[in-house]
Amino acid sequence: MKSAIVTGGAGFLGSHLTERLVREGYRVLVVDNFCTADPKNRIFLKTLQDKVYLVEADVCKPWTWLNDVPAPFLENLKYIFHFASPASPPLYQKLSVETMWVNSLALEHAIVYANTQKAKVIFASTSEVYGDPEISPQPESYWGCVNSYGERSCYDEAKRFGESLIYSYNLRHQTRHGMVRIFNTYGPRMNPHDGRVVINFLVQGLKGADLTVYGDGSQTRSFCFVDDLISGILLYAERDLVHPHNVGNPKEFTIMELAQKVQKIFAGQNLKIIHQPLPKDDPRQRRPDITLALKALAPWEPRVSLDQGLEKMLEWLKEREV
Ligand code: NAD
Ligand code: UDP
Repeated sequence: MKSAIVTGGAGFLGSHLTERLVREGYRVLVVDNFCTADPKNRIFLKTLQDKVYLVEADVCKPWTWLNDVPAPFLENLKYIFHFASPASPPLYQKLSVETMWVNSLALEHAIVYANTQKAKVIFASTSEVYGDPEISPQPESYWGCVNSYGERSCYDEAKRFGESLIYSYNLRHQTRHGMVRIFNTYGPRMNPHDGRVVINFLVQGLKGADLTVYGDGSQTRSFCFVDDLISGILLYAERDLVHPHNVGNPKEFTIMELAQKVQKIFAGQNLKIIHQPLPKDDPRQRRPDITLALKALAPWEPRVSLDQGLEKMLEWLKEREV
């Protein structure tokens, strides 16, 4: 049996990655300190039974917990998916220093351990490496327009450092660690208090509260349903790629269009849209150029539309009882 480590495996993306790896026959060691995870994801991980071993630890600290892990979870280790990191702007701004360390120091812990096991690290990078982009869609060859000294820089610059750290290790040690640049992904098991736009609007809708659009809502994002993203990431790992690849859904919406979709979903409630100040350095536009991924990960392509994805997420939220 093969094994994999998922740091941040109790979080939104990490829990889906863990689920898919178990389905594909892996034993999965999940390491998480629950700083941003939905606490209810603990219950979900338990449903995967003896295929998952959960360690509650801060991955920035030395990985001494490895000594206490049952041996089968480290045998034939193929991958370390380094997904631990606050990901929502309000949370990474609150945990700014922690965010910088988890994408740098903790990533190095992952690389160093992976090298002892001849395993491959896959780093969760982000569209934020492009900052507030001057071109759209954004291809991997675009170097970005990033503020190194501001509210979002703890996240953006830490992810850029992480990419660079992998590049340097690969060069020096002839390793093949890789990274995916993830664009706004949504779905079940996001923390309802996380603050990102899709979960915020759906929770507001369920509570009959006003939908909070920041600024005039003309800024754009391109939303990817979690199942599409996870399929792309697993193919990226299996195909042993090393260079950054954008993974996301290129269908672009303004935030106002998203709010109007949510208004329609809760048509009976006459939800109001209210405007709140646009956070500083909020990117004006974001849309992935997925030409590279379509070729390298073929026949992968994003399949779930925003309407379908919102329905699926809402079903889950209703069951979860926000
Ligand atoms: P999330 O907040 O749901 O998950 C992150 C997980 O990491 C949480 O469970 C949290 O408790 C854990 N964590 C954070 N710091 C830790 C530490 N020091 N030690 C141990 N565990 C720690 O967010 P997510 O959306 O699932 O994001 C997962 C990864 O994907 C992150 O690295 C994020 O930057 C990246 N990403 C996500 C998106 C997206 O749209 N969801 C976009 C780009 C990049
Ligand atoms: N946003 C909003 N209302 C909310 C939460 C977010 O209008 O309740 C906006 C936010 O300003 C940004 C976009 O939605 O322009 C996406 O924000 P999110 O926090 O989901 O992720 P980002 O792509 O900014 O990292």
